[in-house]
Amino acid sequence: MSIEHISFESRDDDHIVDPTVSCSACDAVCCRLTVVVMPEDTVPRHLVERTAQGLDVMAHDEDGWCVAVDHTRMCCSIYDQRPDICRKFAMGSAYCRAERKAYGHRNDREIPITVIQHGGT
Ligand code: SF4
Ligand code: SF4
Repeated sequence: MSIEHISFESRDDDHIVDPTVSCSACDAVCCRLTVVVMPEDTVPRHLVERTAQGLDVMAHDEDGWCVAVDHTRMCCSIYDQRPDICRKFAMGSAYCRAERKAYGHRNDREIPITVIQHGGT
């Protein structure tokens, strides 16, 4: 299985930012990618795992998201300590849009539905 990495190779559409895309209405799609942690990053070490290839990466939970994702708010719980590579992943950028498209993002978040059953007496 291939591993997707956040990459910084330039793309023709790098300069185009979609202003309608917002992290506040996204399922933290980019936080499903494999994020390489560099020695200069200050990520808490218990959130980092080492791959068979010897790379330090953000660990993923069983659902495929980075373990640092706050699932209640779908945002980064270590925002001030996030890896440098995450800081360079711009909202609405070509990579952002590509990941959202690949994920099949619906641009709406799952809102739990509570069924209230009224007693029928
Ligand atoms: S950068 Fe893009 S993919 Fe990542 S959370 Fe924000 S909108 Fe979603
Ligand atoms: S460290 Fe934060 S911004 Fe980076 S992938 Fe994990 S949750 Fe997302």
